Amino acid sequence: MNEQEILAKVPTGLFIGGGWRESADAARLDVEDPATGAVLTTVASATPQDGRRALDAAVAAQAGWAATAPRARAELLRTAFELLTARAEEFALLMTLEMGKPLAQARGEVAYGAEFLRWFSEEAVRVGGRWATSPDGATRLLTMRQPVGPVLMITPWNFPLAMGTRKIGPAVAAGCTMVVKPASQTPLTMLALAGLFAEAGLPPGVLNVVPTARTAAVMAPLVGDSRLRKLTFTGSTPIGKHLVRQSADQLLRVSMELGGNAPFVVFADADLDAAVEGAMLAKMRNMGEACTAANRFLVQEPVVEEFVARFAARMAAERVGRGTRDGVTVGPLIDATQREKVAQLVADAVAGGADVVTGGSALGGAGYFYEPTVLAGVRPEAALMREEIFGPVAPVTAFADEDEALRLANDTEYGLAAYVFTRDLGRTVRVSEALEFGMVGVNQGIVSNPAAPFGGVKQSGFGREGGPEGIDEYLSVKYVGIAP
Ligand code: NAP
Repeated sequence: MNEQEILAKVPTGLFIGGGWRESADAARLDVEDPATGAVLTTVASATPQDGRRALDAAVAAQAGWAATAPRARAELLRTAFELLTARAEEFALLMTLEMGKPLAQARGEVAYGAEFLRWFSEEAVRVGGRWATSPDGATRLLTMRQPVGPVLMITPWNFPLAMGTRKIGPAVAAGCTMVVKPASQTPLTMLALAGLFAEAGLPPGVLNVVPTARTAAVMAPLVGDSRLRKLTFTGSTPIGKHLVRQSADQLLRVSMELGGNAPFVVFADADLDAAVEGAMLAKMRNMGEACTAANRFLVQEPVVEEFVARFAARMAAERVGRGTRDGVTVGPLIDATQREKVAQLVADAVAGGADVVTGGSALGGAGYFYEPTVLAGVRPEAALMREEIFGPVAPVTAFADEDEALRLANDTEYGLAAYVFTRDLGRTVRVSEALEFGMVGVNQGIVSNPAAPFGGVKQSGFGREGGPEGIDEYLSVKYVGIAP
C-alpha cells in the first residue's frame, strides 16, 4: 500500500462503544508529517462530552469483560497479534508518516509492539491466587487477583504503537476496559489499532480511543470521574506529576512511565566495538527521541579519545532524511519546538567549552531535521547533561575511576535506564547494583524487551510494563478469610 492508500484507509473518527463517530462539535485535529510540515489528514477531536461517552462505554462493558473466560481474552490478543504482524508494513508506514522515524525502525516498533499482545495473550491464563493456612491455624486465607476496572491510558508521540500495546495488552488480558488518549501529534496508529482490535473480535466498549486537541479539558473530568479506577500515563515528568496530583482526589491506582536521563558508561576494559555499536543503538533509535535514549556518555580516560573518534565516524555516516526514503537512518524531530530545544542545548554546551566533533546544526528546508552530533569535553554541569535532549546529540565526558563514574551516572533526578560497557564481572555486579535506575543494560544498547519489567525510579516514575510484572498493574488483590 502506498502513502495515499494508507491515509485513505485509516479511520479518523473517535472510537467509542465499538463504533466510529464524529466529535460532538464536529471539530477536527490536523495530523502533520514532521518530514515536510504538510498536513497528512485530520481526525475527530474529542470534546469533554465525547470523553465522558467513552468512559460510559468502558464502564458499561467492564463487568461483562471481567467475566469473560481468560482463554477467550488470550485468544483475542493472539488474533490481534497475528493481524498486526500480517499488517506490519501498513502500520510501519503509517507510523513513519505521522511520527517521522525511518521505515526500518517503524517496522522494528511494530514487531516490538505486537510482542506485547503475544506476551500478554500468554499471561492472561496465568493469573492465579493462593491458598494458605493462617499461622494460628484458625482460618484459611484465599487470595484472588481481580481486574482493577476501567482504565484511562494516556500515551506519548514517540512510540505511537508500542506505548499503547504495552498498556492495552495487559489490560485486555486482566479483564479491564479502557479509554485511550493518544498524543495529539500521532493519533493515526492508535486509531488503526482500534480498528484492528474490533476486527479481532474485541467486544464494544472494551477499548475506546479519543484523540483530542483539548487535552486538559477532556482528561481532567475523566481523571476526576468516580467510575474510573486506574490511570496509566507515559509521557513527560511535569505532566506526570500534574496527573498524579489530579488523581489524588480519587486515590486512583496510578502507573507513571516518565522521562529519563540515561548514562552510557564505557570502562577502559570494555570491548570498544561493542560499545560503539551499543552507543549507536542507545542514542540513535528514534532519532534520540526515546525515554531510554543515552543522554550522557561517560567514558574512562584511557579510551575516551578513541571512543569519540569511532563514535563520531559512525554518526557522521548516518543518512538524514524523510523516513520513507530508502537508506535513510535518521528522520526528522517531531516538531519545530523540539528542534529548537535541541539547538539551544547544543549552543549552551558549546558556550560552556564543549567541542563539536561532528554535526552541531539544524538542517535548512522543510521538516524538522537536526544533524547527528557528537560533543566532546562536555562539562557535567551543562544543561544537556541534566535535561532530556530528545534528539540525535551525544555529549561525551571523561571519568577517572569507578567511583567517579557512579557519582556522575547517579547525579540526576531521573532513574529510568542506564548502560554499562565492561568485561569485568565483579565490576558488572557492583555497578549494576549501585546504579539508581529501573533498568540497566550491560554490554547492550537496548533494554526494552516485552518479557522484562520496563519502568523507572526517582522522577522517572513508578509501575512496570511488560514481563510477568506487567499484568499486576491491572489487577488488585482480594483476600477472603474462611473459617473451616
Ligand atoms: P507529554 O507532553 O507529557 O505528553 C504525553 C501525553 O500526555 C500526550 O498524550 C499529551 O497529550 C498528554 N497530556 C498533555 N497534557 C496533559 C494534561 N494536562 N492532562 C492529561 N494529559 C496530558 O510527553 P510527550 O512530549 O508526548 O512525550 C515525551 C516524553 O515521554 C518524554 O519525557 C519521554 O521520556 C517520555 N516517555 C517515557 C516513556 C517511559 O516508558 N518511561 C516512554 C516514552 C516516552 P497531547 O499530545 O494532546 O499534548
